[in-house]
Amino acid sequence: MIPPGQVPPRAEADDAESLGVDRAREIILGRVEPVSGSERLPLRGALGRVLAGDVISAMDVPGHDNSAMDGYALHHAELAADGETVLGIAGTAFAGRGFDGVVGARQCVRIMTGGVIPAGTDTVVAQEAVRVEGMHIVVPAGQRRGQHVRRAGEDLRAGAAALRAGKVIRPADLGLVASLGIAEVTVQRRLRVAIFSTGDELCSVGAPLGRGEVYDSNRYTLHGMLTRLGCDLLDLGVVRDRPDAIEAAFRQAAENADAVVTSGGVSVGEADFVRGLMAELGEVAFWKIAMRPGRPMAFGRIGGAWLFGLPGNPVAVMVTFYQFVREALLKMMGVSPTEPLPRFRVPCVTPLKKRRGRSEFQRGVLFADDGGWKVRATGAQGSGILSSMAEANCFIVIEPDRGDIEAGQPVEVQPFEGLI
Ligand code: AMP
Ligand code: MG
Repeated sequence: MIPPGQVPPRAEADDAESLGVDRAREIILGRVEPVSGSERLPLRGALGRVLAGDVISAMDVPGHDNSAMDGYALHHAELAADGETVLGIAGTAFAGRGFDGVVGARQCVRIMTGGVIPAGTDTVVAQEAVRVEGMHIVVPAGQRRGQHVRRAGEDLRAGAAALRAGKVIRPADLGLVASLGIAEVTVQRRLRVAIFSTGDELCSVGAPLGRGEVYDSNRYTLHGMLTRLGCDLLDLGVVRDRPDAIEAAFRQAAENADAVVTSGGVSVGEADFVRGLMAELGEVAFWKIAMRPGRPMAFGRIGGAWLFGLPGNPVAVMVTFYQFVREALLKMMGVSPTEPLPRFRVPCVTPLKKRRGRSEFQRGVLFADDGGWKVRATGAQGSGILSSMAEANCFIVIEPDRGDIEAGQPVEVQPFEGLI
């Protein structure tokens, strides 16, 4: 492991040998730490935010034993071991309006779902299981003691942590916190992330495209991914391939953000140029990662901010973001534990070209047919072909030791829809 406070050694970064994907992820996650700072928010506003402290339940949920069914509450000991039992109906317990009377011998109480179990009863018989005869019911044999009763505290116990710090608040969590009667929660402050694109060939959307220029699409995909992750964005636009411009952008970004995510300018040639600058501004390692797309990448620290220098190719930006940046930013946001995107194996219906010795992240469409879930590749897989990414709903993750894959073989897929 790399000791904290030190950037990955140059030997590893500059080595002719490339860094494996898992190793790169491990180094990055080993370095970044959660940022400090929290805020108190009304419950609804906390959706998607990260809990800064445990939410402790001050009470049992539910607060009372109550019925899980519409039916009749009774004392199980009153029932005949075999054969039917006739019981008188002493009254009704509604949800929110209990039965306050006394349940005598050979009596039961009509009870609605959520109604508090009346004193003197311990079991609920579903209404469809009994025969009603005037003010009596006939209960068949075979009722289990305690059936259809939700116990006080079975959801949450008073004093227990209902939710742990580090959890991303989802709809179920909002409901759970509300069920405790808590109206405000303390969440981590939002992470501030600065982005910019580098390249002399880049043109911003809205301006006419000059000869040989391309529209800057990376800031838009980054905007989408970072916004879904819940970050505050500082968009510094397009920065030209000039040392003074790049230096100014890095300084401004590092002063105003917790993390800086850039695209372009880290490949051979350009990297040499940015590299000198980085030596002055901070500690940054340039990596060749054994993956496709996404081979060149820079990672390190500039001032108080972590830098993720992603490649320029539009697909490579997205692949490296999902594989490295996403989880690192989640950790910085205070999410704990962080987990990589889930993966599972399905048959691939298209043959795949794959070079051994590197991880490949091809774009796939996961679909279901009669035979279960399968994946197909989305046409051309060039790292500049963003339409392959737009069509895809998953990565097909092919391990370094695998070569070409025949149709029908199992492959790992990593769905990306809806996860951030
Ligand atoms: P680079 O990593 O800077 O050498 O860029 C690699 C390729 O990605 C080149 O074809 C660039 O034109 C393209 N590229 C770089 N940045 C962007 C961007 N922001 N939007 C779209 N394409 C880009
Ligand atoms: Mg460039």
